[in-house]
Amino acid sequence: MASWDRCSPSRLAARREVAVRAQVVDWIGPFSPFWRERFSALGRTPRQVASVSSLERLPAVGERDVCPDGDPAGAAALVLQTQERGYALHAEGPALRRALWRRAVSRRSYRDLIEAETRPTSYVYAGQALRFPVASTRSDLDIVARVGARLWKVLGLRRSDVVVSALRADATALVSGLSLAALGAGSPMFVPGEDVEALLDTLRIAEPTVLVVPATGGAALLRRLAGAGAAVASLTTVLVAGPPNEQERVEIDEVLGSALGSRALTLAVHVPDGHRLVWGECRDSAGRTGLHTYPDLELVDLVDPETGEFSEDERPGEVVVTQLGMRGSALLRWRTGDLASYVDERPCPGCRRTVPRVVELRGSALVPELALRTGLRPVDLRAVASALSGRPDVSDWRVVLGSSARDGSEEFLVHVLPPPQEVPADVAVAVTRDLRMATGLLPSQVIVAADGSLPSGEGLSPRLLVDP
Ligand SMILES: [Zn+2]
Repeated sequence: MASWDRCSPSRLAARREVAVRAQVVDWIGPFSPFWRERFSALGRTPRQVASVSSLERLPAVGERDVCPDGDPAGAAALVLQTQERGYALHAEGPALRRALWRRAVSRRSYRDLIEAETRPTSYVYAGQALRFPVASTRSDLDIVARVGARLWKVLGLRRSDVVVSALRADATALVSGLSLAALGAGSPMFVPGEDVEALLDTLRIAEPTVLVVPATGGAALLRRLAGAGAAVASLTTVLVAGPPNEQERVEIDEVLGSALGSRALTLAVHVPDGHRLVWGECRDSAGRTGLHTYPDLELVDLVDPETGEFSEDERPGEVVVTQLGMRGSALLRWRTGDLASYVDERPCPGCRRTVPRVVELRGSALVPELALRTGLRPVDLRAVASALSGRPDVSDWRVVLGSSARDGSEEFLVHVLPPPQEVPADVAVAVTRDLRMATGLLPSQVIVAADGSLPSGEGLSPRLLVDP
């Protein structure tokens, strides 16, 4: 059988249908408390959405849907809740046969098998406007490690590569995914973190071939290392975790080349918020063909960032992930807050892998952190959009991100166009109140369009504008 990253499109499509059906009908449907409730609210059964094309039309959900009042405890409803009896009813053929055989010979070993598959054993944190735990079972960790070995191939790394990570040791899916990847690939990994002294010592002793730096602040960190005379002659690869935007990438390349005198190749790695698999750029294309994904373990789609729904438009969209074969916190149609230009399903012109690639991804673009007058705050523009859409007292709206002419602080302005019969002052008050409820924040200003015209310009979507 062809490996997953070399499958023909038709073979790939057929295998994905089977995986989608198993995940939705056998796992999410019966065992996800969140989706059980949501399916019944939508009036659909798991079987009705258990194909790639019908799943595409299922409205996506994100952290605000799971934790509507901002309480991270809501995220527990994403974790699959199984029991021994339920497992026997829903496990796939081979796993079930193994389980039944074990139950016949040893009750204890039967329980161990179910636990490995369904009991959460480790947690990382995710979330953008709020912070919530993401649960993994032992079998999930196993998948992440095996995917890590595949990531290594995409990145063009080998077992003999030695990795040093300058990422802060946070409990995130990216930090945990990279260390499981090194484990899965059999490469030694050192994690001194961002402390320059500790990094210098590790670089000298370990002579690494791979250095991991954060996208934000990565160039500054490399500059400090250069200033301290860091030993980087052995480096062949710099992994930039984030992923980097165009400017961050240029700066990192510049410091690497000019200040450190290194010819290492920079490649991006990224885990979308809430997900657990590490996506990477391929070495064969020198990182020019987008983030490579894993079609046997996830579906990646773009949706309208204002509504979370399917869109025919060729515009950039919000990245939405459905996990296949993952347990613990199992994501279905999950809104990641990342924006991407498109998902390319054609074979990669660099490495020829037939895996979908997410192109021009901007991490957390829909939940930007703004230096508001009240402090640094993440603003969930998806929650802003949902509070403004479909209201009887607002015919149309725009949100403009910009900076204040008065003191240079960042702000988000909300422009609304009420229908003629509405009293403008009442609309402004109602919109302000609802935005506060939906986002936990007050907008910098709500402006009622007196002359009937709304601002226009470039932005993240037709209504979410960015003032340059
Ligand atoms: Zn490639």
